[in-house]
Amino acid sequence: MKLTKRGIAVGATTIRGPYNGLPPARMTMKILISNDDGYLAPGLMALYEALKDVADVEVIAPEQNNSAKSNALTLHSPLSVTRASNGFRYVNGTPADCVHIALTGLLDYRPDLVVSGINNGANMGDDTIYSGTVGAAMEGYLFGIPAIAFSQVERDWHHLDAATRKVRELVQSMAQQQLIGHTPFLLNVNIPNLPYEQIGTMKLCRLGKRHAAEKVIQQKNPRGETMYWIGAAGPVKDDADGTDFHATAMGHMAMTPLKADLTDFDKLGDWAQKAAGLITTSKFSIA
Ligand code: MN
Repeated sequence: MKLTKRGIAVGATTIRGPYNGLPPARMTMKILISNDDGYLAPGLMALYEALKDVADVEVIAPEQNNSAKSNALTLHSPLSVTRASNGFRYVNGTPADCVHIALTGLLDYRPDLVVSGINNGANMGDDTIYSGTVGAAMEGYLFGIPAIAFSQVERDWHHLDAATRKVRELVQSMAQQQLIGHTPFLLNVNIPNLPYEQIGTMKLCRLGKRHAAEKVIQQKNPRGETMYWIGAAGPVKDDADGTDFHATAMGHMAMTPLKADLTDFDKLGDWAQKAAGLITTSKFSIA
């Protein structure tokens, strides 16, 4: 597969548009693409199609579906990287493995942006904790690189062409605003499965919330042993105005800036008091 060299110059004052007779820009935006649905997923091809003409793109994705793998890294078995016939590379590991090895030795350059998706189904609310799509983007972010996770809300690939156009427009406009390649950020974007003209505006949202997951499902295997299937995600608990659930239900795209630091800063003071009562044999103070 031929990767195009046209595109938007990063860090340059002139943004190249269609061919204008000048030589290619000296510095072209470089984008690493991954996902969690596997290297054969239509959504991954859609992401490639969205970005191949605006940047130098490299696709490194899991060999198998890796839903709900979050940021998992494979530590106890070696990873292999294989070139598929379409030029994508696939790894016998997780989404985070793909991005991790790309950034720590596989690529001989530092991407300006890591994008993940387009996922087959929503990644909103508490689901973002488990999401392999978000995990791939998070891995880029942890290495100080701007990163975006893209998901379609429904799991049927309907209107993937519209999502592709929306992704291209967003990344192009972010590049034109010089947002890419400098300060790291992590964005979670969910796109409703609607025709292009019917997709609303981009809403900046907080994450909604779900109730606890459904019960685990027990089955007997052929040897009479009890096996367990993780149950379905819980129903939506908080889809108030301002959440990602609400925005996408209204036909809008939802964008949520995420962070990796899980510290509950509001509770540090609380726990300093509680811990003083709990821990009597050692000194305790907020660092
Ligand atoms: Mn997925």
